[in-house]
Amino acid sequence: PTPKTLVTVGEIVVEIMATEIGQVFLEPGPLVGPFPSGAPAIFIDQAARLGQPCGMIAAVGDDDFGTLNIERLRSSGVDVSAIERLPGVPTGTAFVRYAADGSRAFVFNIPLSASGHIRLTEAGQALLSRADHVHVMGSSLFSPAVVAVVREAIGQVKARGGTVSFDPNIRPEMLERPGMREALQEILQACDLFLPSGSELFLFTKARHDAEAVAELLARGIRAIVVKRGAEGATYHDRDTTEAVDAFRVREVDPTGAGDCFGAGFVCAWLRGASPREALLQANACGALAVGAKGPMAGTGTTRDVHNLIAAHKEVRL
Ligand code: ATP
Ligand code: MG
Repeated sequence: PTPKTLVTVGEIVVEIMATEIGQVFLEPGPLVGPFPSGAPAIFIDQAARLGQPCGMIAAVGDDDFGTLNIERLRSSGVDVSAIERLPGVPTGTAFVRYAADGSRAFVFNIPLSASGHIRLTEAGQALLSRADHVHVMGSSLFSPAVVAVVREAIGQVKARGGTVSFDPNIRPEMLERPGMREALQEILQACDLFLPSGSELFLFTKARHDAEAVAELLARGIRAIVVKRGAEGATYHDRDTTEAVDAFRVREVDPTGAGDCFGAGFVCAWLRGASPREALLQANACGALAVGAKGPMAGTGTTRDVHNLIAAHKEVRL
């Protein structure tokens, strides 16, 4: 069968990282970057490296940060024809710092950047006409304009019998933006495959335990749920099966991008009809490769990298 074409819509940013754990942004300190980034951009970069035909509807400024991102995605094999270059607005930025407990805090410039002006251009429509699947990141639902494009993409793809995946990817810095919660609920209702982090299960349910939350979501018509559990791996649920797969034991260098790479690993396997277990293995491998490299896209692995990691860990277990 011909491989399915995967499309995402959302923010492209450069990421600039504090280099010291515990560093603050209230005084000067060492920074490293710019790195190509943005949750949907990391996701689609990972999908392309796994060989999936894929593209992105997005916008960048007419600046070096935009060029850096477009060239990175192009070199990974992403169809960049629907990434619009907008004069007069800058490419989005995200400054990130790390606390001692491993948590992260951000300073974002996204809604007021080129990403805030995403629209469905002719090139975007052409890409969408070829799409079999749309992936949505909750972090992309920061403005009514982007939500409108996401809604249109979902509508068109579903009308053709295509599918939708959704990773809520909540950043507390963004959750209270007007309309954000409503948009998250709307996309949740439209998705076939839901990919929350453990704690995100409860944002959308009345449940108090994981199993209760999963049952509630499946009852709403979501076909499959994949719960990401960081270093503990991930669990798949549908009406008939539950399947848990451990994470690979690797040294965590930089957690940024792990969830996005995991999502691409899972969705690409799911689109080719892999079993939940196979899909979780590929997804965990992509997540493990991502945490092993500094920089949001630095760890996106190819199919060969994924196979090598799985093979290496099989040997260790024997
Ligand atoms: P984010 O906070 O960036 O949105 P997330 O919550 O979406 O992240 P995580 O659960 O942190 O995603 O990570 C996704 C996947 O990456 C995990 O399910 C696991 O497969 C892999 N992973 C994450 N951290 C580690 C780790 N320390 N060791 C091995 N694998 C990891
Ligand atoms: Mg995430």
